[in-house]
Amino acid sequence: MEYPRLETLRRVRRMVVKLGSSVLSGSKPRLDFSMLRRLSGDVAALKTQQRQVILVSSGAILAGREQLALGIRPMTTQLKQAAAAVGQSRLMRAWDEAFAREKITAAQVLLTREDLRQRRRYLNARNTLFTLLRLGVVPVINENDTVSTDEIKFGDNDMLSALVAGLCDADLLVLLTDRDGLYSADPRDNPGARLIARVSEGEALVLRGRPGPAGSGGMASKFKAAQLAAGTGISTVIANGFNEGILQRVLAGEEVGTLFIARASPLDKRRQWLAFAAHPRGQIHVDEGAREALAGKSKSLLPSGIKSVSKSFEAGDVVSLVSGGVEFARGLANYSSKELDKIKGLKTSQIEAALGYKPADEVVHRDNMAVLTR
Ligand code: GLU
Repeated sequence: MEYPRLETLRRVRRMVVKLGSSVLSGSKPRLDFSMLRRLSGDVAALKTQQRQVILVSSGAILAGREQLALGIRPMTTQLKQAAAAVGQSRLMRAWDEAFAREKITAAQVLLTREDLRQRRRYLNARNTLFTLLRLGVVPVINENDTVSTDEIKFGDNDMLSALVAGLCDADLLVLLTDRDGLYSADPRDNPGARLIARVSEGEALVLRGRPGPAGSGGMASKFKAAQLAAGTGISTVIANGFNEGILQRVLAGEEVGTLFIARASPLDKRRQWLAFAAHPRGQIHVDEGAREALAGKSKSLLPSGIKSVSKSFEAGDVVSLVSGGVEFARGLANYSSKELDKIKGLKTSQIEAALGYKPADEVVHRDNMAVLTR
């Protein structure tokens, strides 16, 4: 069936637009104010069409590097964090000024992964974003680089933007970059590389297995982000931020960039949190039969399908469910790793004899499980 691109895009009411440093810097390694003004104009035009826009803007480190006259030398993590602290206020001032020309108020929102992992903070962030949107404000989100360590980092703003899209129930995620979209091969050394206009759920799995399209020139993280968004029911467009009026063209349904089509049966909010925001404490390795029952037939995990557990976790922790070395689902464990060591491989009727008690038949209940790949 032909995908109704125009219809889907015309219906977009709320969108997250991610701007990478490459788009905000133009040809020189510093913030390009004219680009920020142009993008603010585009956002203003979208707002007149009653569309709500949330920006995820990189550029803090870029702006800090310029202010501190650090040149283009490689930076340690600490120097990057310091540069981000200097640059974030400059970045925000630039956005404030650019939006003021359009009579739009902008708001700074800085997040770490930890903020989305903890359910209470996740809900708080969500409520604040909704309030800002109700007030007609454009939230400008960035990672809180100053406090981000590897443990709590999003990795990059592509992932952050996909999580934010899920967080605020966006209808569309747009990743603006310095490329026209996803290519069948790296266009820099393959003259025959062609732009992929559309990627459906099935096609994404095939493409992910190939090194070319998903693994070159910063596209790997965009691909991952688009897949994450698709899992939460949100379509993604990867497009070239240097093209004039690109956001309007995307929303007018023009065949620009690469459109990743959202999963037809997306995960619900709770499962989205489990799948993408929560932090698994350990792994439960299951046999192929259990994987099929869980992923294919939406069954709960019982002790009989468990081969082994790794890392230590408590009942109530989020765990990864792994088969053949591949994580295919996440869920809330009803048993600790210690208990599972004693009951793995057993029938549910044998749990009580082995432990002396039985909190539940299921090790992970289907209601507390998010399947990542079928
Ligand atoms: N948070 C970083 C910055 O603002 C950018 C991270 C990224 O673009 O992936 O400079």
